[in-house]
Amino acid sequence: MANVSAVKQSLPPEDSKSHFIPYCQHSIDDDEIQEVVNTLKSNWLTTGPRTLQFEREFAGYIGCEYAIAVSSCTAGLHLALSAYGIKSGDEVITTPLTFCATAEVIEYQLAKPVFVDIDADSFNIDSQLIEEKITPRTKAIMPVHYGGIPCDLSQIYEIADRHGLKVIEDAAHAAGTIYQNRKVGSLGHPTVFSFYPTKNMTTVEGGIITTNDAEIADKLKVLSLHGISKDAWKRYSNQGQWYYEIHQLGYKYNFSDLQAALGIHQLKKLDAFNTVREQYARLYYNALSEIPCLGVPKWYDHYFDFLQGQGFKNCWHLFVLMLDLEGLSIDRAEFIHELKARGIGTSVHFIPLHLQPYYANKYGYKKGDFPVAEDVYSRIISLPLYPKLTKEELNHIITVLQELVNEFQR
Ligand SMILES: *Cc1c(COP(=O)(O)O)cnc(C)c1O
Repeated sequence: MANVSAVKQSLPPEDSKSHFIPYCQHSIDDDEIQEVVNTLKSNWLTTGPRTLQFEREFAGYIGCEYAIAVSSCTAGLHLALSAYGIKSGDEVITTPLTFCATAEVIEYQLAKPVFVDIDADSFNIDSQLIEEKITPRTKAIMPVHYGGIPCDLSQIYEIADRHGLKVIEDAAHAAGTIYQNRKVGSLGHPTVFSFYPTKNMTTVEGGIITTNDAEIADKLKVLSLHGISKDAWKRYSNQGQWYYEIHQLGYKYNFSDLQAALGIHQLKKLDAFNTVREQYARLYYNALSEIPCLGVPKWYDHYFDFLQGQGFKNCWHLFVLMLDLEGLSIDRAEFIHELKARGIGTSVHFIPLHLQPYYANKYGYKKGDFPVAEDVYSRIISLPLYPKLTKEELNHIITVLQELVNEFQR
């Protein structure tokens, strides 16, 4: 295939050993590339047969009734709030330790994001603290499965049921995560996954909403494409294919067959990708437990000790390192700088949202409001973790971490 090799030649050359290890890299192979080429040569590019196939296969993988592919996870989260009629004056409870998208979509609906501090072990929303933030205006809870660690869903669902609240799960990090023997996304409430290039599988841009609720699934589908009513087509089918009615304001959030071309193949590899992530996480975990001043979230201890045998699975979107700042003469930003100077890319997940000027200015949030999230934020570094990373690179990263501790330990 001349076209395929032309595409490959235009990619940067595979690096030699003297390279910078990036924080993140996607894994796209010839099968994805071939499917994209085939799609481009077909007579359908946007939402069509490949999107339907991808939705069916993703629903099968998760074990849910419905899956609606959309242009991004952000779009999916927004649609779920819109489908539930979340509006001005409403409050939605979520975590401050998340990507801006989670709270941004609440703002799109002119509702108020109400943050609840995180649990110090899992970095997920602390379900013990949710109830004290519920008011008559509270309409929904949006838990985020931080780094692939499942939230305390049974507790969250129990609280939501008791107070008549909707639950919308931000599962951007959780493709393949298992909670009490069930995949995240299979429990029924709308759950939204991301296929952004940094995530466990990618369609470049894209997301998908899973649910077991037929009525919500139907609403989401209609809202994702301008609010064009499918029922109107059925009712007035004698009017022909060109006829449609708009009964509500919709959005342009649909997914394309070009994205599905990638997604169909990425989904087939997702479990294999996650297995490599888990192997690497274990290597990091074992090595870091030997190095002073370098901790990890306590949830990892529980996971490697017993949670795996209890029907839990982390999809290992992130491997988070926690610095013991008291034992080091440099802070987290300086530690990241030193890693970068030694050729290792890292990231931080996340700057707590209540400290972002937009939310601080609008709602009067200030430092000290969510002490656990703030303390965690000051210590965390996300290490490179992806299938394309080699064992040699991973061992090199561990060696460099050991060297940095030797140099900067107090
Ligand atoms: C990446 C991410 C999103 C947004 O995903 P997009 O597909 O880029 O819209 C939402 N929430 C969290 C926690 C994320 O990490």
